[in-house]
This record gives sequence, structure tokens and C-alpha cells, in this order.
Amino acid sequence: MSKNLQAIRGMNDIRPTESPLWRYLEGQVSRLLDTYGYNQVRLPIVEFTELFKRSIGEVTDIVEKEMYTFADRNGDLLTLRPEGTAGCVRAMLEHGLIGGGQVQKVWYNGPMFRHERPQKGRYRQFHQIGVEVFNLAGPDIDAELIILTWRLWGALGLRDAVTLELNTLGTSEARARYRDALVAYLEVRREQLDEDSQRRLTSNPLRILDSKNPDTQALLVDAPKLDEYLDDESREHFEGLKARLTAAGVPFVINTKLVRGLDYYGKTVFEWVTDKLGAQGTVCAGGRYDGLVEQLGGKPAPAVGFAMGVERLVLLLETLELIPAELQRNVDVYLAAFGEPAELAGLALAERLRDTLPSLRLMVNAGGGSFKSQLKKADKSGAELALILGDDELANEQVAVKPLRDDSAQQTMSWNELAAFLAARFELA
Ligand code: ATP
Ligand code: MG
Repeated sequence: MSKNLQAIRGMNDIRPTESPLWRYLEGQVSRLLDTYGYNQVRLPIVEFTELFKRSIGEVTDIVEKEMYTFADRNGDLLTLRPEGTAGCVRAMLEHGLIGGGQVQKVWYNGPMFRHERPQKGRYRQFHQIGVEVFNLAGPDIDAELIILTWRLWGALGLRDAVTLELNTLGTSEARARYRDALVAYLEVRREQLDEDSQRRLTSNPLRILDSKNPDTQALLVDAPKLDEYLDDESREHFEGLKARLTAAGVPFVINTKLVRGLDYYGKTVFEWVTDKLGAQGTVCAGGRYDGLVEQLGGKPAPAVGFAMGVERLVLLLETLELIPAELQRNVDVYLAAFGEPAELAGLALAERLRDTLPSLRLMVNAGGGSFKSQLKKADKSGAELALILGDDELANEQVAVKPLRDDSAQQTMSWNELAAFLAARFELA
């Protein structure tokens, strides 16, 4: 026999029992974004490789070693999107949605692909919900994005589990001056750097600040600090952001080593981190990227955004046992009918109930079966009530209503009474 086919390592199925939590989370996010006036965009999963090289940066981890790139049949180099911002900017430009200073507030949700080492909270196909705002340059909008995520954590019960880390990277000029100072400091200490950091010294020196290597971190203690090189404009922007977060009651900590892994960020960067998930602790990350639109061929347009990792948020809700009880159950009522005449009458009754109570979650027994086996299936479905229809009930145009989750008594009622009874029982409008 041939070997069983398996999913690709790091690419997960979301099983039927897991998807209610995903839908709950996605529902919370989309409802929240609706109330703040953001619109959803749905973007292709595949883009020209060039788009990611030009936006994320040639010397980032993502572009250097994590992208799924392949040649199309006509020879075009294509890549499965590793993140959503690049495609979003491309779409905004392509459809003329951000020309002439037009403000856009948009969000997206979907799978991203990175060839990383799979582990808890880190996968090769993972999902992000991202939010982007174009043509607003001030700290008020940076604050709004952070405040709305704080509200989301509130709705999900996660406020005590996450911490907001904030930093400012300054303008590109300030960053360039700082980069020179940092390289000068590290160049003479090159031998003491870990291998990755040595490589980054020429390619992407700011990322060295991010190094997990303790010796490298020790070396950085006396290194020049980014905030000493900040320009006045960025400083003011950062003060404005902090004032707004404070006004809205959002707690934060400053992490001057937070630089983010993508080249396009400047000024504000932030991460929401948790200590409940081990090494993969960042559940949401973003920042300002005022230069990217122009870099991709558009007229300059300031922009800011973030993306959250859906798998990590799902893991966090599971770890903290914050899964709402009503998600465990998706059937209210199970209809069991015995014999063909009762089955036909039951089907008609079920459809009438669906007409009257569109939100009733009603499962009709399929596949026949004895009284015992149908009730077993009813129990397994998770339903609260079984509606039982046999020859006697049929003759009297009645059903037996059997509670499945408590000891209350079974009762018999007429078909006409049933809808009102169920509406009251399940609080259906
Ligand atoms: P990390 O430092 O964990 O590698 P990152 O800086 O590469 O994250 P971003 O590109 O900013 O991550 O993506 C935003 C969010 O998407 C992350 O904060 C995380 O929650 C999630 N994410 C990123 N990569 C993965 C992955 N391979 N598997 C699962 N979630 C991921
Ligand atoms: Mg990464």
C-alpha cells in the first residue's frame, strides 16, 4: 500500500472542533474594525517576487531565506505572500485608492507563508489579520491603531496577558546617522559578535539590536543608542503618541531595542507580547512605514499598520482557557423520527421551524436508526433538546421534547406550540 499522504510540515489543518474558536476571534476583530470604520480588502495570495524584494528589503530574513518562490509556467517569478502589507500597498496603488492624499483605512485576513523552522506558535503557513491606514501622518492614527487592539484584548479577556512595547526608529536620515555610529562601534568589536550579527553588520546592522545572543547583548550595553540620534520631528511624534495612549488608558513600556524585522518601518514601531507562549511571544506587531508607498512607485503617502498572528492568539486563548462556553456547542435541538411517515412529517416540521426561527440550530437525524441509536446521536451532537417523533406523536400531531443535559421531565406538545416553546427556551428573537 502506498504511504499515506500528509500535509506539508508547518502547514496545519484547522479541524472542525477548532474552527469555532477561529470564527469567534475573527468575528470579534471584524466587528471591532467595523465600528472604527475600517473596510476589508481581499488580496491575492501570490504576487510577483519583485514586490516583496522591493518592499520588505533584500537583506531581511524573510527575503533572504523564508520565501516560497517559484517560476510560473511562463517563467515569471512568483512568491506566496510572506506578509500582507506589500500586497496591500500594491493594490492601493494599482486601483488609485491613495492618490492625492486620499485616506484609506483597510484590513485583511488570510494565510501567509514563510519557510521557517516549525515549532509552537511558528508555522510555515500561518494567518494574519492586518490593518493599514494610508495618508495620515500624525501620531493620532498610530494611537488609534494601538487603542483598538487594546479594546480587542479587552473583548477577548487578554488584557492581563499582553504588554505593549513601543519604540521609535526616527526618520530614515536619523536612522542612517545612527547606523553609521553603531557600525563604527561594532566594527572594532567584530570578533566578539555572533555569526548572524557579523553578517548583519554589513547587510542590516540595526537588526543586531534584536539578537538573542547574550554576548552580543552584553556588547550592546555601551553601544550608541538610537534615541540619542533621533530627529526632533520623530521625537515630537513619539511624545504625541505616548500622550494619546496615556489619555486612553493604554499601558505601555518603551523598548529601545525594538527594531522589527522589515526594512520599511520608520518612526513608530510596536509589539504586543505575552510571556504565556514561550519563545513565540509576539502576538501583534506593526509600525509606521511612511516611505514604502513611494518606494513602490507611488506618490509619497504616509502609512501605518500592524498584523496580528491568529495562531498565536488562538493558542493564547486556549492556554488561558478563555474559550467562551457557548463555542463548545453548535446544535440546540436534534430531531429524531422513527419510520418513514414520521420522518417525512419531521422533515416538514423542521423546515417550518427554520422558517419561523432562522437562528435555531437544528440538526435533523440522517441515516435512520433505532430509537436508541438516534438518541445516542442526539446526545453526541451536543444538543440541549431532542424532539422525538414516532407513530403515536405523528397520529396526534405532537412531538416529545426530551431534555438531554439535565434531569427535567420530558414533555409532549403539539406541533403548533413548538416554535414558541423553542423561541423562549433558546432566547431566539
Ligand atoms: P517573529 O519575531 O515572531 O518572527 P515577525 O517579526 O517575523 O515575528 P511579523 O512579520 O511582524 O512577525 O508578523 C506579525 C505577526 O505575525 C507576528 O507578531 C506573529 O504573531 C505572526 N507571525 C509571524 N511569523 C509567524 C509564523 N511563522 N508563524 C505564526 N505566526 C507568525
Ligand atoms: Mg519572523
